[in-house]
This record gives sequence, C-alpha cells and structure tokens, in this order.
Amino acid sequence: MHVEEVGGGPGDAVHSSWLELSAAHLRHNVAAFRALESSGPTPRALGAVLKGNAYGHGLAQVLPLVHAGVDVLYFIAPRDALTVRAHEAAHGLPARQVLVLGAVSPEEAVVLAREGIDVVVADRSWADAVPGLRAAKLPRPLRVHVHLDTGLGREGFTADQLPKQTQFLADAPDVFETVGVLSHFANTEDVTEQGYALAQLDAFETGLAHLTAQLKPAKPLQRHIAASAAALVLPRARYEAARVGISLYGLWPSPETRLSARLVLGELPVLKPVLSWRCKSQVVKWLPAGSYVGYGCTYRCPEPTRLAVLPVGYYDGYPRLASGKAHVLVNGRRCAVLGRVMMNHLMVDVTRAVSDERPVTATLLGRDGEESVSAESLSGWAQTIHYELLTRLGSHLRRVVVE
Ligand SMILES: *Cc1c(COP(=O)(O)O)cnc(C)c1O
Repeated sequence: MHVEEVGGGPGDAVHSSWLELSAAHLRHNVAAFRALESSGPTPRALGAVLKGNAYGHGLAQVLPLVHAGVDVLYFIAPRDALTVRAHEAAHGLPARQVLVLGAVSPEEAVVLAREGIDVVVADRSWADAVPGLRAAKLPRPLRVHVHLDTGLGREGFTADQLPKQTQFLADAPDVFETVGVLSHFANTEDVTEQGYALAQLDAFETGLAHLTAQLKPAKPLQRHIAASAAALVLPRARYEAARVGISLYGLWPSPETRLSARLVLGELPVLKPVLSWRCKSQVVKWLPAGSYVGYGCTYRCPEPTRLAVLPVGYYDGYPRLASGKAHVLVNGRRCAVLGRVMMNHLMVDVTRAVSDERPVTATLLGRDGEESVSAESLSGWAQTIHYELLTRLGSHLRRVVVE
C-alpha cells in the first residue's frame, strides 16, 4: 500500500466527509439567470463569480460545469483566473471573458495581459506601473475595467477623485485599453427598499459620463454593477453584464431579496442549491442515561441514547458556534448535534433515526428524504451568513459532481 492510499491526511478520501455538487441544479440556476438577463430589449452578458474556491464548491469542479453556460468568469485571485485559460487549452474550448476583481501586482498584470484576462483598475497606484508595463512589451494593451466607489467605501475611485486620478489611463493608450466600468452595491441584500442602491446607480452614471468624456473609448464601455441581489430585484442595474455569485449556486442572497423578487418579478425564480455535504459515521453506539457527551460536558443524556460519532468538525468548516443548536439528517430524520462541535468530530443523537448500530450516512447540508438542512439554517445557528459558511468549507474535502 502506498502512502497516498492511506486515508487521514489532507484530502482524506476515506474517513472524512464529502461534498456533492449537483450538475443539474447548477445548469438550472444558470438557465434561470439567462432567462432573467434576456428578458429586456437587449441581451446581456451573464457572468459567474467563482471567487472563494467557487463559494467553497470547488473551482476545479465548478469551472467545467459553468464554462459553456456563461459569458464572463469573475475571480479575486489572478492565479485562479489563469486556470480558465489552462482549462480552455486542455479541452480546445473558446476563450471566455475573464476578469480579476481583486488586487493585481504589475508582474501579475503582465501575465494576465498575455492571456487576454481583464483586470480592474481601482486606484491610482496603477499610474506607477506604466513604465514597467511598457517595458514588458505586451502583445496588446492590458484590458482594464475602472472601478468606481459609488458608496460601498471599498476599492474604486470616489466621485472626488474623478477625473483627475484617472488621467493616466488616457495618457497611456499603448498600455491600457479601458473596456469596462464597474461598481459594487453596499446595501441591496439587507433591505427591501433600494433607495441607497438607486443613489449608487446615479453616482455610477455620473462617473461613467466623466470617464467616457476623458477616455473617449473606441467602443462603449461594458457597464456592470449587479451581483445576485441586484440582478434579481433591480432591473435598472443590469446594464451589459451581471456578476452572479451566491445565486448561481442556488441560494438567495437574503430573505429580503426573496421578498423583493416576488414583488419586482411577479413570479419567484426557482433556485436549486448545488451543494450537499455528507459523511459516513465513524461509530454508532449506545450511551446509558446520565452519560456526558463532548468537551466541557455540556450535554448529558436524559435517557439511553444511541449516538453517532461523525468524522466532521470545525477543521472541515462545520461551525463550532452551531454546537447545541444544529441538526443533521439521518434516514430523512432530524438528529440533534449533542454537545460541542470538535475539531474533527461531532456527535449526533440517532436514537430514533435508526434501529441498530450499523454505520449511518449523515447529511450535514442538503436534502435527505422530506427533510433538508439549508446553508441558511446552518449559518444561522452559527450566527453567520451562508456566504461565510460555504467559503469556509475545507479545500481538503472531497468534492464529487453528481447529475
Ligand atoms: C462577491 C462579488 C459579487 C457576487 O456577489 P453575490 O452576492 O454572491 O452574487 C459581485 N461583484 C463583486 C465585486 C463581488 O465582490
């Protein structure tokens, strides 16, 4: 037996839990957004946001599933963006528009320019990169999108900085080809009225007018500002492209977005969660009444309890804050998590879910029979949001694509 065949290390394939990704659900969500994006007078580009290891789903698994169905792929890390070109080369696929939303060093920009990957210019540090980029003798100018800070207070040029701080783009057309303009909303998910977002849209259009006058682009700039929530509930924000993250994976950005969508769209689009998380029990056994379970002895069995020890813990991304609140599914029944979630273990009460001590398969996230545990529920028990829960699922977990 080779070392790689023994479970228990990083990427443990034998004893740990695994993630199941539904290819059918992902295709369904892509189609739902495609329908939304093509409902207006002009067809718009549909973009998939694959940052955070594809929202924890696994970039290596998700990229082949979405490549054919979307027009743009968005990343934070340059390294991740480059995997798209490698995938296309390996499979003889046409090149998709790829955009790095995150910070990019001048050295990385040279590599990205050669691969025809777009970058975001969000501050004037790029002016200092001009001599280096010029010396690199790029085969074509770097394709850039200008980020406007319209009210998020994160990266991007503020209204006060325009047009002075973007003049360097106009002065170096051999280095930069400005192809797009973007911004990001601060407050679309947490509310059902979009007053703040509408003010951001006004600021976006004012900034765009400044930029267009200054840069005189050969073609109209590609405008994009909508993430999932705005793509769903704010038709004015759709412009030429949408950057859809969480909802492509089948989740609503928030309950407020869902409420708003019903009002704005009349009919709620159906989103289907792509990810399930399952594991096999390590052991199932009886504990007598009065036994304690877990660190700190925070749980004591009031009656004889059939316990399943699951080889999953906070190391894998199961939140410790969910201790004493969460449940998992076994045989389609809810089973309470007993005591504290540990680094590599959690214990659940399977007294009524099974009738013997044979190993069980538990569903930590997803559906089992009539019951399901949503990412919203588990993140709620842990006092966080589904975005954080998903992106913290361990990269070491096995990810399996199912139909
Ligand atoms: C993460 C992100 C998105 C996607 O947001 P969702 O709410 O997941 O759709 C879009 N644009 C930017 C700039 C982002 O950082």
